[in-house]
This record gives sequence, C-alpha cells and structure tokens, in this order.
Amino acid sequence: MKMYYDDDVDAEVVADKTIAVIGYGSQGRGQSRNMADSGLNVIVGLREGGSSWQKAIDDGMNVKTIEEAAEAADIIHILLPDETQEKVYKEQIAPYVEAGNTISFSHGYNIHFGLIQPGEDVNIVMFAPKGPGSRVRTTYLEGFGIPGLVAIEQDATGDALQLALGMAKAVGLTRAGVIETTFKEETETDLFGEQTVLCGGLTALIKAGFETLVEAGYQPEIAYFETCHEVKLIVDDIYENGMAGMWHDVSNTAEYGGLTRGNRVITDATKAEMKAILGEIQDGTFKKEFADENATDAANLKEMRAAEERETIEVVGKRLRIACGLQKEDE
Ligand code: NDP
Ligand code: MG
Ligand code: MG
Repeated sequence: MKMYYDDDVDAEVVADKTIAVIGYGSQGRGQSRNMADSGLNVIVGLREGGSSWQKAIDDGMNVKTIEEAAEAADIIHILLPDETQEKVYKEQIAPYVEAGNTISFSHGYNIHFGLIQPGEDVNIVMFAPKGPGSRVRTTYLEGFGIPGLVAIEQDATGDALQLALGMAKAVGLTRAGVIETTFKEETETDLFGEQTVLCGGLTALIKAGFETLVEAGYQPEIAYFETCHEVKLIVDDIYENGMAGMWHDVSNTAEYGGLTRGNRVITDATKAEMKAILGEIQDGTFKKEFADENATDAANLKEMRAAEERETIEVVGKRLRIACGLQKEDE
C-alpha cells in the first residue's frame, strides 16, 4: 500500500494552475471552498438558474458557466452526480479541453466504464475523500482532514500524480493520508461497498430486525431503538477501536450472544450473493441497468424512494427522533 501525506506533495505543481470545479453539491461545495481557502485559483462552473448558482456566489466563490469555467481552466474537476457527467462532459466540457489539461474526478465511474473518453493528450486523475462534503469542510476548518484516495488513469504531462495530490492537499486529505489506487479498484470496490454493506446491506439488516420485533408484537418505538438507533453507537465504537474494541465495550451477554448468533444471520448464502453482486459490477451488468434506469427518468428509483419513506420504521423513527430532539420538525 502506498500512502501520501502533506510532506509528499509538491504544492508548487498546482500553485499556478486554474482549477474549474464543476458542480457545487455535497463534494463541490466542500472541496472548492477548501481549495480556495488553501490559496488555489478556483472557478466554480455551474448552470445558470440552478439552485447552486446563488449559493456559490453567497459563499464568495468565483462562479462562471460550465463552458466558461472549462475554457478558462487547466484542471477540470468534475463533481456532478455520476449519472449526469457523460452528457455534461460531451456537450459543455469536451469542446473546451486542450492538450495538457487535466480531467479530474472524485469517483472513477464514468472513466472506468468508458462513458467519458478524453483524448490521449490530457491527464485523467481522481482524488476522492472518504466521506461526505460537509465533513470535508468541517474537518478542514478544524485544522485536520479526512482520509482519501488518489488514482491516475492517464499521465500525459508527466506530473499528473503531483497535480492530483496538490488538489488533495488543498482539500485537506493528505493531512489524514491518501492511499493510491486505480480507477478500476476504486469504482468496483465503491459500488460493492455501498450496495452490499453500507447502504444496501445495512438498511436491509436494520429493516429485517425491526420487522421481526414488530411482527412479534413489541412496540415499534422499542424496536426502533434496538435495531436502528443503537447502530450508530456500535459503528462509532468499531470505527474508533475495531471489532475487538467494540466487543470489549459491550456486555459479556451481548458479546457471547453476538458471537454465537451473528453468523446465523449473515450466512454463507449471503456471501455467495455478495459474490454475485460483485460479478454484476465487474461485468458491466450494474452499469447497464443504472444507465437504462436513468434513460427512463429514474422511474423505478423514484418509486422505491417513495415506498421507502412509507415504511413503518421511517415513520416511527422520524416521530421518535423529533420527540427526543435528535431531528428538527421540518427536516
Ligand atoms: P451532488 O448531487 O451533490 O451534485 C449536485 C451539483 O451538481 C449541484 O451543483 C447541481 O447544480 C449540479 N448538477 C446536477 N445535475 C446537473 C446537470 N445536469 N447539469 C449541470 N449541473 C448539474 O453530487 P455529489 O457531490 O454527491 O457527487 C459528486 C461526485 O463526487 C460524484 O462523482 C460522486 O460519486 C463523488 N463522491 C461523492 C461523495 C458524497 O459523499 N456525496 C463521496 C465521495 C465521492 P444545480 O444546483 O444547478 O442543480
Ligand atoms: Mg459511491
Ligand atoms: Mg441491548
């Protein structure tokens, strides 16, 4: 494993570059503000009339249209939702890309799956924080950063790695440490993680536990506390101290029960399914399915999103979070 810290970065390499950050959402806002505060020359490229435009101006950023920003920049760092990048790149960015420019991302999706194919005369790089944009910003303001990844797909100028690391440093990532990876590894492991463990697996596990208790006649509020609310306490403990630290902190009853029962919930069959899901990521099945979904205006996604909001655990959970002061009424 190769890990980079602040001292490994030659900040001079990006110092004289103009960086267009395209998009001002979760990552765009956090990363571009950090880069600007670190002294880099940053332009934010946005569509006029979108909700980000005024927000970026109010934050004091230098805002231009996507076309103007792309034309002015040496480095174009694309932080739009992944499913929009192909079209925006083709129509609004590609016409302004010049030899020696750098095309940069925080997720390898569009390059790895061949949806965006820049010419051979530009750098293709990625640096990605391992956390949401809001945390990228708050940790930076606290004088630290969150860890990240860096990858070089194409090095046309010979200094692509230092360009990517220079931006990662300005965002605060090399304060914590940046691990070198490839577009393929980052894309496939990121999709696998969010599908099977983090987003998909975890919510399915929580829901199954909640439903089991409610169907057995227990109060939904109690079921919510036991199967959802407390997840954060356990995850925080594992995050800071590892599994062994967590086992040490819970009661012996919880430790014995968990160690003897956990493998009955997540079984060999679960792992076999994880392997099948990984296969669908690797062979392009998932990419095709998601492209088809977006081609039909994400109709299935919208329906699943609405159904999820109607789930008992969501209704009960929101009521309880408001009652306990964990969430505000209007959120
Ligand atoms: P967001 O969904 O927050 O991006 C929203 C921004 O994109 C807004 O400024 C919006 O502008 C603009 N936008 C959306 N659609 C279009 C369009 N069709 N044309 C022009 N502008 C558009 O994205 P994220 O920050 O979540 O993700 C950005 C990248 O970072 C992705 O590659 C993602 O995988 C990666 N990433 C995200 C992480 C996260 O925690 N969110 C973590 C690590 C990587 P407007 O206001 O005008 O609609
Ligand atoms: Mg992801
Ligand atoms: Mg308990």
